[in-house]
Amino acid sequence: AQPVLAVVGRPNVGKSTLVNRIIGRREAVVQDVPGVTRDRVAYDALWNGRRFTLVDTGGWTPDAKGMQAAISAQAETAMATADAILLVVDGQVGATSVDEAVARTLRRSDRPVLLCATKVDDERGLGEIAALWRLGLGEPHPVSGLHGRGSGDLLDAVLEAL
Ligand code: GDP
Ligand code: MG
Repeated sequence: AQPVLAVVGRPNVGKSTLVNRIIGRREAVVQDVPGVTRDRVAYDALWNGRRFTLVDTGGWTPDAKGMQAAISAQAETAMATADAILLVVDGQVGATSVDEAVARTLRRSDRPVLLCATKVDDERGLGEIAALWRLGLGEPHPVSGLHGRGSGDLLDAVLEAL
């Protein structure tokens, strides 16, 4: 079976936009993967001739108090089922306390974890990105799901991890 990358992070950070950028419309085949519920959708992805499965999580609308628990559960599920995990944070907002909590959970993972900052549409946004090293998940990869900026470098790192 092809390796699975789970994409996790707070609502509205740009997970689905990034996933759509990676799979492209023609690759957007929704798969019937065991354990995938309505809020976890798996797609076929292809980069540099290698196929992998991309699981986009989210879909729930938790209240402010429930969000941290919901995202921690999402991260635990990803750690149990995926071959590698991509934590997405909003590069225009920086790391929030919820991001820090989920990063703490993911640091326990025995699977590789990658970190990316979305909504970095141009060079002006790059200055804030170095601060994300403090999440303890290695190099923060700046990307724009909207424009595609940085997505190639991110995918190279993903393939190295898978
Ligand atoms: P999700 O809830 O994490 O899946 O986030 P979405 O992909 O649905 O995006 C949430 C909002 O952020 C939408 O209004 C997107 O258009 C916007 N957004 C997502 N990616 C980018 C990006 O790279 N740049 C900018 N400027 N906006 C983005
Ligand atoms: Mg989404």
